[in-house]
Amino acid sequence: MTPEYTPADRRAALDRAARLRQLTEADRDAIRLAQDPKFPRWLEQITATGGCSHPIHLSGSTTTLDASTGEIIRHYDTRDEPGERLLVRCRNRRVTVCPACSRLHAGDTYHLVRAGLLGGKNVPGTIRNRPRLFITLTAPSFGPVHRAGDRCRPRRDGGTCEHGRPLGCGAIHASDAPVVGQPLCPDCYDYTSHVLWHAHASKLWDRFVIDVRRRLASSVGLVQSRFALHARLSFARVAEYQKRAAVHVHAVVRLDGPTGPDDEPPAWGTPDLLIDAVRASARRVLVHTPYSLAVGELALRWGAQVDARPLHANGDGPDDDAVAAYVAKYVTKGASETGAGTDHPLTTRDDIESVPVNAHVRTLMRTCWRLGKLPEYEPLHLRTWTHTLGYRGHILTKSRAYSTTYAALRADRAAHRANGEQLGEGTVTEATWRYIGSGYTPGAAQLAAGIAEDLAQNREFAREAKHEQWWGE
Ligand SMILES: [Zn+2]
Ligand SMILES: [Zn+2]
Ligand SMILES: [Zn+2]
Repeated sequence: MTPEYTPADRRAALDRAARLRQLTEADRDAIRLAQDPKFPRWLEQITATGGCSHPIHLSGSTTTLDASTGEIIRHYDTRDEPGERLLVRCRNRRVTVCPACSRLHAGDTYHLVRAGLLGGKNVPGTIRNRPRLFITLTAPSFGPVHRAGDRCRPRRDGGTCEHGRPLGCGAIHASDAPVVGQPLCPDCYDYTSHVLWHAHASKLWDRFVIDVRRRLASSVGLVQSRFALHARLSFARVAEYQKRAAVHVHAVVRLDGPTGPDDEPPAWGTPDLLIDAVRASARRVLVHTPYSLAVGELALRWGAQVDARPLHANGDGPDDDAVAAYVAKYVTKGASETGAGTDHPLTTRDDIESVPVNAHVRTLMRTCWRLGKLPEYEPLHLRTWTHTLGYRGHILTKSRAYSTTYAALRADRAAHRANGEQLGEGTVTEATWRYIGSGYTPGAAQLAAGIAEDLAQNREFAREAKHEQWWGE
């Protein structure tokens, strides 16, 4: 029997075809996915990654056996999964790369920093009575840059530099004005020192910590080598790019007894003594660059702006929370988000000319590339770290005894997810896994983004509910 189409049917069919043509590639791909019989399980997997936008695809199996009888207690195999694969989180800390994982990472950082301030996560609550400081160390000046807020750089006598550019500015810039952080004269600006300072910033921090210990010891008449028998200095620090694309450092510093968080510090260990030591060390420590025929030998120090404030235990709880939140915020920022560099390494000199950064940052990148070819700077790997402007430290660094670790927090979460299921004693686990790819097709990416948004919104609601519960609003 031949189907009979009315003119109306025909019009509808044409409309449908036209509408399908108008769909984006991602929409068509999403429709294709939704027709897969394993689609529900696939959605479950994306939800389990928290809507990660660039998941890792794994193939393999895990078998748990009873050690004595060899009986299989549990078996999981990706052969039964959609596409015969399991999706796991990319765990990228940068919000520009993966919003879902960066949120999780920020949460972990918050708990990690907070535990070192207030206790929790196996850290005793007594640490809140220890001398604890929040400190900020900056890079020195490499040349005047435009700044926001008050009048930029007023100069009564005017005057120009040797390149004919004005030495002052006098304008009032909004904080988001593109000119803020840019040098008044790029030719006067010391790009070489800026890049070399970045390359030595982690070493400068290490020297700083050693010097604070040394200073504390000598201020109470201890031989330096005996400091560790009396007290222990713990810290968590985070690096942040300023507007002028120079890294500065925020850190929580805490003084414990010799064995760490469980141990009371000696009576002489007061916040004032700690502040004095921090200020003096920040002024004093320096690192020399390797000698170079082109550059000479530079002595690198911290900038003159040193901020060190005590965190008080009494009734100042929200302060500690704010500090932890503040630090957590910084670890999710990629170099690209702060405008200082890019999130991905640059592999050729030409890459530098095409990345979307301002003129100041581009000159810093060019400087990394140029200095990177000098044999005396080879150990600094400046070309490899062109995208971070020579800085190659981690964004968050902490001493061993500060608090918990990212690994412990992740293990906690995994145990929580396993819903208390205990498979410890008397069992053996055999696992074989391999990496088979990463990322999503366009349609899948769209679905994952939707799931990430839903999860974030649910968390937001949960937070509001909790807020009401606490504050009765
Ligand atoms: Zn991710
Ligand atoms: Zn200005
Ligand atoms: Zn100049």
